[in-house]
Amino acid sequence: MSDFYVKKIEGKSGRQLAFRLSYGCDLLEALQKIVEENDVRFGSINFLGAVQKAKVAYYLQDKKRFVEFDIDKPMEILSGLGNVSIKDGKPFVHAHVTFLDSEGTVLGGHLLPGNIVFAGEVFIEEIELPAPPKREYDPVTGLFLWE
Ligand code: ZN
Repeated sequence: MSDFYVKKIEGKSGRQLAFRLSYGCDLLEALQKIVEENDVRFGSINFLGAVQKAKVAYYLQDKKRFVEFDIDKPMEILSGLGNVSIKDGKPFVHAHVTFLDSEGTVLGGHLLPGNIVFAGEVFIEEIELPAPPKREYDPVTGLFLWE
């Protein structure tokens, strides 16, 4: 066992899925619905496109809570990265996003509901394994991490 990680997960490459998102949908709700409908239980997600407005969060490590940011303007999604694992018995999407606004400023954060899609392209790479990791509450960080 390494000092640098607390869990190693090894699986096999599963389905490779791609989706074009609908104009006007909620980005996180769409990702969540996609993994539920397709029964993706563990894997990685990447996405790009543009949003009409955004909502992201930053985790205050000392206070163990998120602060939320509403960004009420159209932006490019330069990079969206996420993963799927099991939380409360069902597939759960955790994603972070980087945006570019019309002034050339980059910003981003932890993806929340409230990001309205202008256009979106999503790739999902499923990882198959007998027992996908579950997210459980971690008292050290206050986050739900892979148990
Ligand atoms: Zn996050």
